[in-house]
Amino acid sequence: MAQNNGIPPLRRLILPGVFVAALFAVVLFRQPWRSADTREWVATGPTMGTTFTVKVVTANGDETTKKRVAELVRGVVDSVDGAMSTYRSDSEIELFNRHGTDPFKASPEMLEVVAEAQRVARLSNGAFDITVGPLVDLWGFGPSGVTEEPSEERLAELVAIMGYEQITVDPVNGTLRKAVSACRIDLSAIAKGFAVDEVAAALDNEGYSNYMVEIGGEVQTRGHNASGDDWRIGIERPDMAGRAIHTAVPLTGVALATSGDYRNFIVRDGFRVSHTIDPRTGRPIAHDLASVSVIHSSCMTADALATALEVLGPEEGFALAQRQKIPALFLVRAGELVFEEHPTEVWTALIGNDGASAVVN
Ligand code: FAD
Repeated sequence: MAQNNGIPPLRRLILPGVFVAALFAVVLFRQPWRSADTREWVATGPTMGTTFTVKVVTANGDETTKKRVAELVRGVVDSVDGAMSTYRSDSEIELFNRHGTDPFKASPEMLEVVAEAQRVARLSNGAFDITVGPLVDLWGFGPSGVTEEPSEERLAELVAIMGYEQITVDPVNGTLRKAVSACRIDLSAIAKGFAVDEVAAALDNEGYSNYMVEIGGEVQTRGHNASGDDWRIGIERPDMAGRAIHTAVPLTGVALATSGDYRNFIVRDGFRVSHTIDPRTGRPIAHDLASVSVIHSSCMTADALATALEVLGPEEGFALAQRQKIPALFLVRAGELVFEEHPTEVWTALIGNDGASAVVN
Protein backbone atom coordinates (compact mmCIF):
# COMPACT_ATOMS: atom_id res chain seq x y z
CA MET A 1 0.00 0.00 0.00
CA ALA A 2 1.29 3.43 -0.81
CA GLN A 3 2.04 5.88 1.96
CA ASN A 4 -0.72 8.24 3.07
CA ASN A 5 1.47 11.07 4.25
CA GLY A 6 -0.48 11.24 7.51
CA ILE A 7 -3.72 12.15 5.78
CA PRO A 8 -6.60 9.92 6.93
CA PRO A 9 -8.66 8.03 4.36
CA LEU A 10 -11.38 10.20 2.89
CA ARG A 11 -14.65 8.85 4.13
CA ARG A 12 -18.04 10.54 3.79
CA LEU A 13 -16.23 13.57 2.50
CA ILE A 14 -18.27 15.93 0.39
CA LEU A 15 -16.23 17.95 -2.10
CA PRO A 16 -18.66 20.26 -3.84
CA GLY A 17 -17.52 21.58 -7.15
CA VAL A 18 -14.22 19.68 -7.33
CA PHE A 19 -14.56 17.01 -9.95
CA VAL A 20 -13.58 15.69 -13.28
CA ALA A 21 -16.58 14.58 -15.30
CA ALA A 22 -17.13 10.88 -15.77
CA LEU A 23 -20.36 8.91 -15.82
CA PHE A 24 -20.51 7.69 -12.24
CA ALA A 25 -17.12 7.91 -10.68
CA VAL A 26 -14.67 10.72 -10.82
CA VAL A 27 -10.98 10.50 -10.21
CA LEU A 28 -9.53 13.02 -7.79
CA PHE A 29 -5.96 13.99 -7.32
CA ARG A 30 -4.25 16.22 -4.88
CA GLN A 31 -2.00 18.85 -6.39
CA PRO A 32 0.59 16.58 -7.98
CA TRP A 33 4.04 16.65 -6.54
CA ARG A 34 6.61 15.50 -9.02
CA SER A 35 10.29 14.97 -8.73
CA ALA A 36 12.19 16.00 -11.81
CA ASP A 37 12.06 12.46 -13.15
CA THR A 38 8.45 11.58 -12.21
CA ARG A 39 5.94 11.96 -15.00
CA GLU A 40 2.19 11.53 -15.11
CA TRP A 41 0.93 10.60 -18.52
CA VAL A 42 -2.73 11.10 -19.28
CA ALA A 43 -4.55 9.51 -22.18
CA THR A 44 -8.21 10.32 -22.78
CA GLY A 45 -10.69 9.81 -25.56
CA PRO A 46 -14.14 8.67 -26.55
CA THR A 47 -15.11 5.01 -26.46
CA MET A 48 -18.21 2.85 -26.04
CA GLY A 49 -20.61 5.80 -26.01
CA THR A 50 -18.64 7.35 -23.15
CA THR A 51 -14.99 8.29 -22.44
CA PHE A 52 -11.81 6.75 -21.10
CA THR A 53 -9.09 8.31 -18.95
CA VAL A 54 -5.82 6.57 -18.23
CA LYS A 55 -3.15 8.05 -15.96
CA VAL A 56 0.26 6.46 -15.77
CA VAL A 57 2.85 7.60 -13.24
CA THR A 58 6.37 6.76 -14.33
CA ALA A 59 9.90 7.81 -13.52
CA ASN A 60 11.21 7.25 -16.99
CA GLY A 61 10.08 7.36 -20.55
CA ASP A 62 10.05 9.86 -23.35
CA GLU A 63 7.46 11.29 -25.72
CA THR A 64 7.78 8.30 -28.04
CA THR A 65 7.03 5.86 -25.20
CA LYS A 66 4.12 8.04 -24.06
CA LYS A 67 2.66 7.98 -27.57
CA ARG A 68 3.08 4.22 -27.74
CA VAL A 69 1.22 3.78 -24.42
CA ALA A 70 -1.62 5.99 -25.68
CA GLU A 71 -1.83 3.85 -28.84
CA LEU A 72 -1.78 0.69 -26.76
CA VAL A 73 -4.74 1.93 -24.68
CA ARG A 74 -6.63 2.97 -27.80
CA GLY A 75 -5.99 -0.45 -29.35
CA VAL A 76 -7.36 -2.29 -26.32
CA VAL A 77 -10.56 -0.24 -25.99
CA ASP A 78 -11.19 -0.45 -29.75
CA SER A 79 -10.77 -4.19 -29.61
CA VAL A 80 -13.34 -4.60 -26.79
CA ASP A 81 -15.69 -2.19 -28.56
CA GLY A 82 -15.30 -4.13 -31.80
CA ALA A 83 -16.18 -7.39 -30.06
CA MET A 84 -18.81 -6.43 -27.49
CA SER A 85 -20.73 -3.43 -28.78
CA THR A 86 -24.41 -3.88 -29.54
CA TYR A 87 -24.14 -0.50 -31.29
CA ARG A 88 -22.13 -2.00 -34.18
CA SER A 89 -23.65 -4.53 -36.52
CA ASP A 90 -20.20 -6.00 -37.31
CA SER A 91 -19.30 -6.79 -33.67
CA GLU A 92 -18.86 -10.34 -32.44
CA ILE A 93 -21.77 -9.94 -30.02
CA GLU A 94 -24.09 -8.85 -32.82
CA LEU A 95 -22.98 -11.83 -34.93
CA PHE A 96 -23.97 -14.03 -31.99
CA ASN A 97 -27.24 -12.16 -31.55
CA ARG A 98 -28.15 -12.83 -35.19
CA HIS A 99 -26.98 -16.44 -34.92
CA GLY A 100 -29.41 -19.33 -34.49
CA THR A 101 -29.32 -22.02 -31.85
CA ASP A 102 -26.23 -23.88 -33.13
CA PRO A 103 -23.01 -23.52 -31.12
CA PHE A 104 -21.26 -20.23 -31.93
CA LYS A 105 -17.45 -20.19 -31.96
CA ALA A 106 -16.55 -17.27 -29.69
CA SER A 107 -13.31 -15.43 -28.89
CA PRO A 108 -11.63 -16.22 -25.55
CA GLU A 109 -12.49 -12.68 -24.39
CA MET A 110 -16.18 -13.12 -25.17
CA LEU A 111 -16.23 -16.52 -23.44
CA GLU A 112 -14.58 -15.01 -20.35
CA VAL A 113 -17.04 -12.11 -20.10
CA VAL A 114 -20.14 -14.24 -20.72
CA ALA A 115 -18.95 -16.87 -18.21
CA GLU A 116 -18.49 -14.19 -15.53
CA ALA A 117 -21.88 -12.66 -16.41
CA GLN A 118 -23.47 -16.07 -15.91
CA ARG A 119 -21.71 -16.50 -12.56
CA VAL A 120 -23.07 -13.15 -11.35
CA ALA A 121 -26.49 -14.06 -12.75
CA ARG A 122 -26.55 -17.23 -10.63
CA LEU A 123 -25.21 -15.37 -7.58
CA SER A 124 -27.97 -12.76 -7.89
CA ASN A 125 -30.68 -15.29 -8.71
CA GLY A 126 -31.15 -13.80 -12.18
CA ALA A 127 -31.18 -10.10 -11.23
CA PHE A 128 -28.12 -9.73 -13.44
CA ASP A 129 -29.14 -11.06 -16.84
CA ILE A 130 -27.40 -10.39 -20.13
CA THR A 131 -30.44 -11.59 -22.07
CA VAL A 132 -32.19 -8.30 -21.18
CA GLY A 133 -31.01 -6.95 -24.58
CA PRO A 134 -34.45 -6.92 -26.28
CA LEU A 135 -36.01 -5.32 -23.19
CA VAL A 136 -33.31 -2.65 -23.06
CA ASP A 137 -34.20 -1.83 -26.68
CA LEU A 138 -37.93 -2.00 -26.01
CA TRP A 139 -37.68 0.54 -23.19
CA GLY A 140 -35.69 2.92 -25.41
CA PHE A 141 -32.11 2.48 -24.13
CA GLY A 142 -30.50 0.33 -26.79
CA PRO A 143 -29.17 1.22 -30.23
CA SER A 144 -32.68 1.25 -31.74
CA GLY A 145 -33.77 4.17 -29.56
CA VAL A 146 -37.47 3.19 -29.38
CA THR A 147 -39.38 5.76 -27.36
CA GLU A 148 -43.01 4.61 -27.05
CA GLU A 149 -44.38 2.92 -23.95
CA PRO A 150 -44.17 -0.85 -24.64
CA SER A 151 -47.43 -2.76 -24.86
CA GLU A 152 -48.15 -5.49 -22.27
CA GLU A 153 -48.28 -8.08 -25.09
CA ARG A 154 -44.82 -7.18 -26.41
CA LEU A 155 -43.39 -7.14 -22.88
CA ALA A 156 -44.82 -10.61 -22.16
CA GLU A 157 -43.44 -11.93 -25.47
CA LEU A 158 -39.91 -10.75 -24.68
CA VAL A 159 -39.95 -11.87 -21.05
CA ALA A 160 -40.95 -15.33 -22.32
CA ILE A 161 -37.81 -15.70 -24.49
CA MET A 162 -35.31 -14.19 -22.05
CA GLY A 163 -33.50 -15.60 -19.03
CA TYR A 164 -29.82 -16.16 -18.41
CA GLU A 165 -30.34 -19.95 -18.46
CA GLN A 166 -30.99 -19.60 -22.21
CA ILE A 167 -27.25 -19.05 -22.71
CA THR A 168 -24.68 -21.83 -22.36
CA VAL A 169 -20.92 -21.33 -22.28
CA ASP A 170 -18.83 -24.29 -23.42
CA PRO A 171 -15.24 -23.47 -22.44
CA VAL A 172 -13.89 -26.78 -23.77
CA ASN A 173 -15.14 -26.23 -27.31
CA GLY A 174 -14.94 -22.44 -27.04
CA THR A 175 -18.57 -21.89 -27.95
CA LEU A 176 -21.65 -19.99 -26.82
CA ARG A 177 -25.11 -21.30 -27.43
CA LYS A 178 -28.61 -19.94 -26.99
CA ALA A 179 -31.70 -22.05 -26.44
CA VAL A 180 -33.99 -19.73 -28.43
CA SER A 181 -32.74 -18.02 -31.57
CA ALA A 182 -34.61 -14.75 -30.84
CA CYS A 183 -32.62 -14.38 -27.61
CA ARG A 184 -30.14 -11.45 -27.71
CA ILE A 185 -27.42 -10.62 -25.24
CA ASP A 186 -26.28 -7.20 -23.98
CA LEU A 187 -22.92 -6.89 -22.20
CA SER A 188 -23.26 -3.16 -21.41
CA ALA A 189 -23.26 -3.81 -17.66
CA ILE A 190 -20.01 -5.80 -17.66
CA ALA A 191 -17.92 -5.08 -20.79
CA LYS A 192 -16.72 -1.62 -19.74
CA GLY A 193 -15.30 -3.20 -16.59
CA PHE A 194 -13.69 -5.92 -18.69
CA ALA A 195 -12.13 -3.30 -20.97
CA VAL A 196 -10.71 -1.51 -17.91
CA ASP A 197 -9.08 -4.78 -16.78
CA GLU A 198 -7.73 -5.39 -20.28
CA VAL A 199 -6.10 -1.95 -20.37
CA ALA A 200 -4.66 -2.60 -16.90
CA ALA A 201 -3.25 -5.97 -18.05
CA ALA A 202 -1.66 -4.30 -21.08
CA LEU A 203 -0.01 -1.70 -18.81
CA ASP A 204 1.17 -4.48 -16.47
CA ASN A 205 2.73 -6.23 -19.47
CA GLU A 206 4.57 -3.05 -20.34
CA GLY A 207 6.01 -2.98 -16.83
CA TYR A 208 3.97 -0.05 -15.43
CA SER A 209 2.95 -0.39 -11.80
CA ASN A 210 1.43 3.02 -10.95
CA TYR A 211 -1.67 3.83 -12.94
CA MET A 212 -5.40 4.45 -12.94
CA VAL A 213 -7.70 3.32 -15.74
CA GLU A 214 -11.26 4.64 -16.01
CA ILE A 215 -13.95 3.99 -18.62
CA GLY A 216 -17.39 5.52 -18.15
CA GLY A 217 -16.94 5.64 -14.38
CA GLU A 218 -15.56 2.09 -13.90
CA VAL A 219 -12.06 2.33 -12.44
CA GLN A 220 -9.02 0.11 -11.83
CA THR A 221 -6.00 1.24 -9.79
CA ARG A 222 -2.42 0.11 -9.26
CA GLY A 223 0.33 1.55 -7.10
CA HIS A 224 0.16 5.24 -6.38
CA ASN A 225 -0.67 8.57 -7.95
CA ALA A 226 1.80 11.35 -8.83
CA SER A 227 1.78 12.52 -5.19
CA GLY A 228 2.89 9.09 -4.03
CA ASP A 229 -0.48 8.37 -2.39
CA ASP A 230 -3.23 5.85 -3.03
CA TRP A 231 -5.47 6.89 -5.91
CA ARG A 232 -8.51 8.80 -4.69
CA ILE A 233 -11.64 7.85 -6.56
CA GLY A 234 -14.73 9.98 -6.28
CA ILE A 235 -18.22 8.53 -6.15
CA GLU A 236 -20.69 10.85 -7.78
CA ARG A 237 -23.59 12.30 -5.86
CA PRO A 238 -26.60 10.59 -7.48
CA ASP A 239 -28.15 13.89 -8.44
CA MET A 240 -29.87 14.18 -11.83
CA ALA A 241 -29.51 17.95 -11.87
CA GLY A 242 -25.75 18.30 -11.75
CA ARG A 243 -22.44 16.66 -11.04
CA ALA A 244 -20.74 16.72 -7.67
CA ILE A 245 -18.78 14.30 -5.56
CA HIS A 246 -20.60 12.50 -2.77
CA THR A 247 -17.52 10.88 -1.32
CA ALA A 248 -14.00 9.91 -2.34
CA VAL A 249 -12.26 6.66 -1.49
CA PRO A 250 -8.55 5.82 -1.45
CA LEU A 251 -7.77 2.77 -3.56
CA THR A 252 -4.75 0.89 -4.78
CA GLY A 253 -4.64 -2.46 -6.55
CA VAL A 254 -8.43 -2.73 -6.69
CA ALA A 255 -11.32 -1.65 -8.90
CA LEU A 256 -14.41 0.40 -8.18
CA ALA A 257 -17.58 0.31 -10.27
CA THR A 258 -20.87 2.13 -9.79
CA SER A 259 -24.38 1.56 -11.12
CA GLY A 260 -27.11 4.10 -10.73
CA ASP A 261 -30.48 5.20 -11.99
CA TYR A 262 -29.80 8.94 -12.01
CA ARG A 263 -27.79 9.59 -15.18
CA ASN A 264 -29.08 7.26 -17.86
CA PHE A 265 -32.86 7.57 -17.85
CA ILE A 266 -35.72 8.95 -19.88
CA VAL A 267 -38.78 10.81 -18.63
CA ARG A 268 -42.08 9.37 -19.81
CA ASP A 269 -45.42 10.83 -18.70
CA GLY A 270 -43.62 12.70 -15.94
CA PHE A 271 -41.95 9.56 -14.53
CA ARG A 272 -38.27 8.71 -14.64
CA VAL A 273 -37.62 5.45 -16.52
CA SER A 274 -34.28 3.82 -15.59
CA HIS A 275 -32.01 1.98 -18.05
CA THR A 276 -31.59 -0.83 -15.51
CA ILE A 277 -34.17 -3.53 -16.12
CA ASP A 278 -35.51 -5.91 -13.51
CA PRO A 279 -35.57 -9.25 -15.38
CA ARG A 280 -38.23 -10.56 -12.98
CA THR A 281 -40.78 -8.01 -14.23
CA GLY A 282 -39.30 -6.97 -17.58
CA ARG A 283 -39.63 -3.39 -16.37
CA PRO A 284 -37.15 -0.69 -15.39
CA ILE A 285 -36.31 -0.70 -11.69
CA ALA A 286 -38.46 1.52 -9.50
CA HIS A 287 -37.12 1.84 -5.97
CA ASP A 288 -35.20 4.29 -3.82
CA LEU A 289 -31.72 2.93 -4.45
CA ALA A 290 -30.00 5.76 -6.31
CA SER A 291 -26.60 4.11 -6.77
CA VAL A 292 -24.41 1.22 -5.66
CA SER A 293 -20.61 1.22 -5.75
CA VAL A 294 -18.65 -2.02 -5.48
CA ILE A 295 -14.97 -2.68 -4.83
CA HIS A 296 -13.39 -5.84 -6.24
CA SER A 297 -10.02 -6.91 -7.56
CA SER A 298 -11.64 -7.38 -10.98
CA CYS A 299 -13.32 -4.35 -12.55
CA MET A 300 -15.39 -6.68 -14.73
CA THR A 301 -16.81 -8.36 -11.62
CA ALA A 302 -17.32 -5.06 -9.79
CA ASP A 303 -19.21 -3.71 -12.82
CA ALA A 304 -21.56 -6.70 -12.98
CA LEU A 305 -22.09 -6.90 -9.21
CA ALA A 306 -22.97 -3.19 -9.04
CA THR A 307 -25.73 -3.68 -11.64
CA ALA A 308 -26.98 -6.85 -9.92
CA LEU A 309 -27.25 -5.04 -6.56
CA GLU A 310 -28.86 -2.01 -8.25
CA VAL A 311 -31.56 -4.28 -9.70
CA LEU A 312 -32.20 -6.00 -6.36
CA GLY A 313 -32.64 -2.69 -4.58
CA PRO A 314 -31.95 -1.26 -1.13
CA GLU A 315 -33.14 -4.23 0.96
CA GLU A 316 -32.61 -7.38 -1.13
CA GLY A 317 -29.43 -6.03 -2.73
CA PHE A 318 -27.99 -4.94 0.59
CA ALA A 319 -28.80 -8.31 2.18
CA LEU A 320 -27.06 -10.14 -0.69
CA ALA A 321 -23.99 -7.89 -0.47
CA GLN A 322 -23.76 -8.49 3.29
CA ARG A 323 -24.18 -12.26 2.88
CA GLN A 324 -21.58 -12.46 0.11
CA LYS A 325 -19.22 -10.06 1.92
CA ILE A 326 -19.15 -7.69 -1.03
CA PRO A 327 -17.60 -4.29 -0.25
CA ALA A 328 -20.46 -2.08 -1.44
CA LEU A 329 -21.78 1.39 -0.73
CA PHE A 330 -25.53 1.90 -1.23
CA LEU A 331 -26.82 5.47 -1.64
CA VAL A 332 -30.55 5.48 -0.94
CA ARG A 333 -32.91 8.39 -1.64
CA ALA A 334 -34.34 9.71 1.61
CA GLY A 335 -35.97 12.87 0.26
CA GLU A 336 -35.39 15.63 -2.26
CA LEU A 337 -31.61 15.51 -2.86
CA VAL A 338 -31.06 13.70 0.43
CA PHE A 339 -29.15 10.43 0.28
CA GLU A 340 -28.55 7.93 3.04
CA GLU A 341 -25.31 5.97 2.99
CA HIS A 342 -25.54 2.24 3.62
CA PRO A 343 -22.09 0.67 3.48
CA THR A 344 -21.73 -3.08 3.92
CA GLU A 345 -19.57 -4.20 6.82
CA VAL A 346 -16.68 -5.14 4.54
CA TRP A 347 -16.85 -1.75 2.81
CA THR A 348 -16.57 -0.01 6.17
CA ALA A 349 -13.73 -2.30 7.22
CA LEU A 350 -11.78 -1.55 4.04
CA ILE A 351 -12.42 2.14 3.65
CA GLY A 352 -12.54 2.86 7.35
CA ASN A 353 -9.04 1.56 7.83
CA ASP A 354 -6.40 2.47 5.37
CA GLY A 355 -8.28 2.45 2.10
CA ALA A 356 -8.93 -0.61 -0.03
CA SER A 357 -5.93 -2.41 -1.40
CA ALA A 358 -5.35 -5.62 -3.31
CA VAL A 359 -6.94 -7.87 -0.68
CA VAL A 360 -10.41 -7.95 -2.19
CA ASN A 361 -11.29 -11.06 -4.14
P1 FAD B 1 -24.47 -0.24 -15.84
O1 FAD B 1 -25.32 -0.39 -14.65
O2 FAD B 1 -23.06 -0.74 -15.78
O3 FAD B 1 -25.18 -1.04 -17.04
C1 FAD B 1 -26.54 -0.79 -17.36
C2 FAD B 1 -26.77 -1.32 -18.74
O4 FAD B 1 -26.75 -2.75 -18.69
C3 FAD B 1 -28.11 -0.91 -19.32
O5 FAD B 1 -28.00 0.26 -20.11
C4 FAD B 1 -28.48 -2.14 -20.14
O6 FAD B 1 -27.87 -2.06 -21.41
C5 FAD B 1 -27.87 -3.29 -19.37
N1 FAD B 1 -28.79 -3.83 -18.35
C6 FAD B 1 -29.96 -3.32 -17.89
N2 FAD B 1 -30.51 -4.12 -16.96
C7 FAD B 1 -29.66 -5.17 -16.81
C8 FAD B 1 -29.69 -6.34 -16.01
N3 FAD B 1 -30.71 -6.59 -15.17
N4 FAD B 1 -28.66 -7.22 -16.12
C9 FAD B 1 -27.63 -6.98 -16.97
N5 FAD B 1 -27.56 -5.90 -17.78
C10 FAD B 1 -28.56 -5.00 -17.69
N6 FAD B 1 -23.69 3.62 -25.88
C11 FAD B 1 -23.92 4.51 -26.87
O7 FAD B 1 -24.76 5.38 -26.70
N7 FAD B 1 -23.22 4.46 -28.04
C12 FAD B 1 -22.27 3.50 -28.27
O8 FAD B 1 -21.65 3.48 -29.33
C13 FAD B 1 -22.01 2.55 -27.23
N8 FAD B 1 -21.10 1.56 -27.41
C14 FAD B 1 -20.85 0.66 -26.40
C15 FAD B 1 -19.90 -0.35 -26.59
C16 FAD B 1 -19.64 -1.28 -25.59
C17 FAD B 1 -18.62 -2.36 -25.80
C18 FAD B 1 -20.33 -1.16 -24.33
C19 FAD B 1 -20.03 -2.12 -23.22
C20 FAD B 1 -21.29 -0.18 -24.15
C21 FAD B 1 -21.57 0.73 -25.17
N9 FAD B 1 -22.54 1.72 -25.03
C22 FAD B 1 -22.77 2.64 -26.02
C23 FAD B 1 -23.39 1.72 -23.86
C24 FAD B 1 -23.11 2.82 -22.89
O9 FAD B 1 -21.77 3.05 -22.62
C25 FAD B 1 -23.95 2.35 -21.70
O10 FAD B 1 -24.66 3.43 -21.27
C26 FAD B 1 -23.17 1.72 -20.60
O11 FAD B 1 -22.48 0.57 -20.98
C27 FAD B 1 -24.09 1.39 -19.43
O12 FAD B 1 -23.24 1.39 -18.39
P2 FAD B 1 -23.53 2.19 -17.09
O13 FAD B 1 -22.25 2.23 -16.35
O14 FAD B 1 -24.24 3.45 -17.44
O15 FAD B 1 -24.58 1.26 -16.34
